[in-house]
Amino acid sequence: MTAGQWNDLFRLTAEPPEVNLCQYGSGCFGCCGENYGKKEDVWEGLERNTQEFHDYRRYSQLIAFRDRYGPAQRTNCGLCPNVIMMDNGKLGCPLHPQLNLGMDLRMGFCNNSYFCGTYRNYLAWEEGKRQRFIAFLARKKLDWYDYSNGMINGTLRKEFERLEKNPLRRWFGLE
Ligand code: SF4
Repeated sequence: MTAGQWNDLFRLTAEPPEVNLCQYGSGCFGCCGENYGKKEDVWEGLERNTQEFHDYRRYSQLIAFRDRYGPAQRTNCGLCPNVIMMDNGKLGCPLHPQLNLGMDLRMGFCNNSYFCGTYRNYLAWEEGKRQRFIAFLARKKLDWYDYSNGMINGTLRKEFERLEKNPLRRWFGLE
């Protein structure tokens, strides 16, 4: 995503959120593919991507890594072949501009301006509601697979919104 696109996105909000949902917990692969397989299959794809990334990294071949299967390819489990387990232990994309001095190496390989509905809603909420959503996520203690699926299919947001509307939420310690 370019700096201009980030600015457009954050224009929706009074101020940028403190927590980046794409990197919350173990990170998110939700919009980095489609028709995902079972958890074991996605994990296998992730391990393979990560191993291949390290193989190319030895020779400083980030572009060759990206191009190894051609544009818009998917692994059998539905995951983009560029999603890896980063050195910080989170899922992520090594082509992201934040990791490449502002250069977006994803261009032509994915819809790099895309944000899921959950994230777009989150950006439009006031800060207090955002914080309650983060507390809600923390209570859920989801793993990387369930978190990613819950973000992209909107189920986490819907569950949270139902709780928000519940007048008894204070009684349940949800504030
Ligand atoms: S599904 Fe949403 S939270 Fe997950 S990486 Fe995509 S935009 Fe970020």
